[in-house]
Amino acid sequence: MNTRMISILVVGARGRMGTALIREVMDSEDLTLGACVDRSGGPGIGQDAGRLVNRPELGVLVNDELRPRRGSVVVDFSLPKATETNVNRCVEAGVPLVIGTTGLSGEQEQLLIDAGTKIPVVYAANFSVGVTLMQRLAAVAAQALGPHWEAEIVELHHRHKRDAPSGTALRIAQAVAKSREQVFSDVAITDRSSRREVRQEEEIGVYGMRGGDSAGEHTLMFFGEGERIELIHRAGDRAIFARGALRAARWAANAEPGVYDMFDVLGL
Ligand code: NAD
Repeated sequence: MNTRMISILVVGARGRMGTALIREVMDSEDLTLGACVDRSGGPGIGQDAGRLVNRPELGVLVNDELRPRRGSVVVDFSLPKATETNVNRCVEAGVPLVIGTTGLSGEQEQLLIDAGTKIPVVYAANFSVGVTLMQRLAAVAAQALGPHWEAEIVELHHRHKRDAPSGTALRIAQAVAKSREQVFSDVAITDRSSRREVRQEEEIGVYGMRGGDSAGEHTLMFFGEGERIELIHRAGDRAIFARGALRAARWAANAEPGVYDMFDVLGL
C-alpha cells in the first residue's frame, strides 16, 4: 500500500453527501476509506460501505461511533446535533476535521473555532471549487467594473429546496457588496414585487427559482451601458461538493491547526 494514502473517515455515511464521498474515495488513488459512521440506531449500521453505494464489498462496515486515528481525516456531512461529539473526538485524537454540515448554531460554530487552536478545521457552507472561485471572481469583477455597473444574481435549485434565495447566491452578492465597500443589508434586494420604484444603482438583486432536479445554478450579471457580463456556475450533481471536500481533506492532512475555508484550500 502507498504509505502516503490518506485515510478518510466519513460521518453521515448513509446520507446523500456521505454516499457521494464514499464513491469519490473509492475512485481516488491517494485516499482510502478508514471508517464510515452514521446515526446510532439508524438503518444501515453494520452494512458494508461498498454495498451501501452499490459497489463490491469493501470490508468497511458502517458503525455508530467515530474513533479517529492519527493519519486520518474526518469528513463530516451529517447534522448539527452530531457536531459537538465529532469535534471533540477529532480534538482528542489530534485528527483534522473537514465539516460541511450546514445550519450550525453560534455555539456549534464556536466549538469549531476552539477546535482550531488544536487541529486543522476546514468549514465551508459550499465545498464546490467552482462556486468558491466564482465568489472570488465576483469580487474581482465588482472592483474592476466600479459602482456604475449594476449587479443582479439569479439562482435555480431543485423543487425540494426550502430556503430562497440560496445561501450561495447571498454569499456571491456579499462578495460583490464587500468589494464595493457597501453594507450588504443596505443594498440587497430579494423581492421587487412589493416595490414600485426604479432600480437604484447601488442595489444588488438576488432571486431564486425552484423546480426540477437542478443541483444548483448561479448567474451573476453586471450591467453596463451597452454591455453585460455574466458569470455562471452550474452544479451537475452533489459529487462536486464531495470532490471539493476531499480536496480540503488532502490539504488539511498537512495543515497547521486553525479554522480554514475553501479560499484557504484553493490558495485564494
Ligand atoms: P442527508 O440527510 O442525506 O444525510 C445526513 C446523514 O447524517 C444521514 O445518513 C443521517 O443518518 C446522518 N446522521 C444524522 N445524525 C448523525 C449522527 N449523530 N452521527 C452520524 N451521522 C448522523 O443529508 P445530506 O444531503 O447528505 O447533507 C448533510 C449535511 O451536509 C447537511 O447539513 C447539508 O446541508 C450539508 N451539505 C453541505 C454541502 C457543502 O458544500 N458544505 C453540500 C451539500 C450538503
